[in-house]
Amino acid sequence: MNLYRVDIKTGYLCNNNCYFCVQAQNRHYGNRTTQEIKDALITAKKKGANGVVFTGGEFTIRKDAVELVAFAKELGFESIQLQTNGRMFANMDFAKRMVAAGANEFGPSLHGYKPEIHEYLTRAPGSWSQTVKGIINAKKLGLRVVVNSVVVKPNYRYTPQLAKLFVKLHVDQFQFAFVHALGNAAKYYEKMMPVMSLAMPYIKRGLKIGILNGIGVMVEAVPFCMLKGYERYAAELYMPDTMIKEPNFWIDNFEEVRKREGKKLFPQCKTCRFRFVCEGPWKEYPEKMGIEEFKPVPGEIIKSKQEILNNEKEFPIIPKD
Ligand code: SF4
Repeated sequence: MNLYRVDIKTGYLCNNNCYFCVQAQNRHYGNRTTQEIKDALITAKKKGANGVVFTGGEFTIRKDAVELVAFAKELGFESIQLQTNGRMFANMDFAKRMVAAGANEFGPSLHGYKPEIHEYLTRAPGSWSQTVKGIINAKKLGLRVVVNSVVVKPNYRYTPQLAKLFVKLHVDQFQFAFVHALGNAAKYYEKMMPVMSLAMPYIKRGLKIGILNGIGVMVEAVPFCMLKGYERYAAELYMPDTMIKEPNFWIDNFEEVRKREGKKLFPQCKTCRFRFVCEGPWKEYPEKMGIEEFKPVPGEIIKSKQEILNNEKEFPIIPKD
């Protein structure tokens, strides 16, 4: 299936309060109405979307969450993903109702291999065991489980342990997403923002644990010059075409907007072999951390993402280090 996905931001209320939440400043807007979301789904379908990601805030704490998933199913969306902190899935009855309504992909966030790390970040006591139980329940119900972990200063050293936990939980895929300094992550910048080049050795070890155990892995918002040996695991190589329904406007081509307004390349990138396929880091990163870490990679110019995926010799599936 060629996936054209719509991300529906269903509102901003959440039962976690993460130190790095990019939406934190929007909480006072609350949630959108059931009808607004149904209208957005209908419009997205007319625009040609065949996949939907329900996101927030926290989508699953809405009273109408099951009804909205059923509505998306009725409209004919083939892929229905819940992007969630996963806590509500600790309740097996709720998880079963979601699956019966049509949810087929579970995208929980887990940021620490043990409660002390995860709950320091989510500022929600009990959230670790609920999310872990949610993952176990989702797997029992046969959902594809795609976990996201935001990499921040307090957790980057533990990404290999986190990867081991994901292996134990039999997740289908995990992604390490480098923190984006918006919302709370901007407010708590000093506390949250790691130096990328210091975090990378740990992130790579975590990725390798997943790779060697046959789990899909990705790393988001990290440029290729930081990914030596792991280039084919850049999330940007795989992101499907996506439109986004923000409360008041549509973004029809998220990739274009992300590159133009979200990410940043540097003067030195002009001589890098990845310059035509690289998006650079989130643009807020170099504003405080500088640009010296990003060193152009010498070699034959890479013209398309597919060239990386097709070239197993230069960009091996099993990293050598
Ligand atoms: S040097 Fe620039 S173009 Fe090259 S990988 Fe790094 S950020 Fe991307």
